[in-house]
Amino acid sequence: MDKKEKELREQICDIGKNLFNKDFIAANDGNISARLSGSEILATPTATSKGYLTPESIVKLDLDGNIIEAQEGVKPSSEVKMHLRCYKEMEECNGVVHAHPPYATGFAIKGEVLDKATMPEVVIAMPEIPLAEYGCPSTEEIPDSVEPYFGKYEAVLLESHGALTWGDTLMNAYFNMERLEYIAKLTFITRAIGGERELPKNRIDELVALRPQYGK
Ligand SMILES: [Zn+2]
Repeated sequence: MDKKEKELREQICDIGKNLFNKDFIAANDGNISARLSGSEILATPTATSKGYLTPESIVKLDLDGNIIEAQEGVKPSSEVKMHLRCYKEMEECNGVVHAHPPYATGFAIKGEVLDKATMPEVVIAMPEIPLAEYGCPSTEEIPDSVEPYFGKYEAVLLESHGALTWGDTLMNAYFNMERLEYIAKLTFITRAIGGERELPKNRIDELVALRPQYGK
């Protein structure tokens, strides 16, 4: 196993622990993947808590979902199809994270897009979190529902289900999940205290001008 594969396997385990410790997933929920090479993907196994992954339990797949390497009896997540669609359709995508973070999932169940210009980091890094239409897990319905957002977004709510994020690196895909949940949580909190409001237009414009400096 080369250095890159070893590091990616370890990073998947670290991110699994973070998702678990942050309450972004319960029991065996959620899944994480990373692109190892053009057509080789590393993905979390099915029926395993992502808080207790081991590097050896990670499954190696091709872009069609065929297993290249796995521990005996270990299968990839049944939700891996939405990950594979991300890699197939976006050359620049090298990491994908799926979780059910509670505030974001609350908005996904309600069916509300998060698009309010509440604070600078939101306007600069993630001004809109769209809502992908409900699809049955493990079918092609979810990949089909998220594909329209490829290339324009890196974080989407999955209607009545959870959230999916991706990025040019696995770490950025994970950070997008953190940011998505943070925005959902702040939206919930500001509404709870009756204080939700947006930045004025001229302040939004100056933040939009700053976006290139932040590499997004
Ligand atoms: Zn799920």
